[in-house]
Amino acid sequence: MWKVMMPRKIAFGENAAREFSYPKNSLVITTTTPDIYDKWLTYMGIEDYEVYHKVTPDPSIESVEAIRKSYEGKKISTYIGLGGGSSMDVCKYLGKLTGIPKILIPTTFGTGAEMTTYAVISFEHKKKLLQDEAFLADAAVVDPYFLPGTPFNIMRNSACDAAAQASEGYDSKLSNPLTKLFCKEAFDVLEDAIINEKPQLLPYGAMLSGIGFGNSSTTLGHALSYVFSNEGVPHGYSLSSCTTVAHRFNKSIYYERFKKICKKLNFEPLTLKQGFEDAADVIMPDRGHLDNNPIPVSREDIIQCLDEIVNKNPLS
Ligand SMILES: [Zn+2]
Repeated sequence: MWKVMMPRKIAFGENAAREFSYPKNSLVITTTTPDIYDKWLTYMGIEDYEVYHKVTPDPSIESVEAIRKSYEGKKISTYIGLGGGSSMDVCKYLGKLTGIPKILIPTTFGTGAEMTTYAVISFEHKKKLLQDEAFLADAAVVDPYFLPGTPFNIMRNSACDAAAQASEGYDSKLSNPLTKLFCKEAFDVLEDAIINEKPQLLPYGAMLSGIGFGNSSTTLGHALSYVFSNEGVPHGYSLSSCTTVAHRFNKSIYYERFKKICKKLNFEPLTLKQGFEDAADVIMPDRGHLDNNPIPVSREDIIQCLDEIVNKNPLS
């Protein structure tokens, strides 16, 4: 049996957030400041709502609990997660706790988090990747309106993440004909957006990628990337070299095309402070990614991949 899950309702494209009808008595949850979200909410034409804007990046379980408590007894009809990953993660977890429906509206694009059953919440200062069907949005609204103003570096990293997720998800052992369809289309759209400089296509591409990889998984490229992220390299940036090398190792049909995307985005080579042996110790236990890689990966393979990433500029 194969299974694919996605939000019950998906509104996307130009004016999606403006034309969507929002339920009354919603609680908008966001990470941004009033000068920014006021503009967004006016565009959305939303009425009779409350705003909670004190969500911090990498939200903790305590902050989720605090929001639940402070709105207890108030008649909240719907949570609206408006912003980046953190706003959506808080909404996902709150929705699971209270059973209140949630609408997710990404304003930074790349993770496809609005489509997935994943949420990242910190427990005792440690980020934990959780998966639960209850995290799935009741509605996702994907509108390129929010794109302008995104700094180039963030846009570039997000685009790379989305393309890495789509292509790794395509190759994943957990993929199925329908996830492959989404991943393939996602990559085509993202490639067109990046190579032909059509940024307005990025949100749609990231959304497709979210459905595709969210129902399969990412693989070796992501597994390799976390030792670089742990040293402060942004997620999408670390994937530029890591996923390129992983695609070569896997003989992925996306190797050349992914590399071309990274070259177009002008990613510099990566450096690693820790030794390859130590890094391999961190990467090897990541069975969630490695077990879903299309071919088996040994410790020696990991070290060879790291050597290629750091010493052989895979993007040259
Ligand atoms: Zn990713």
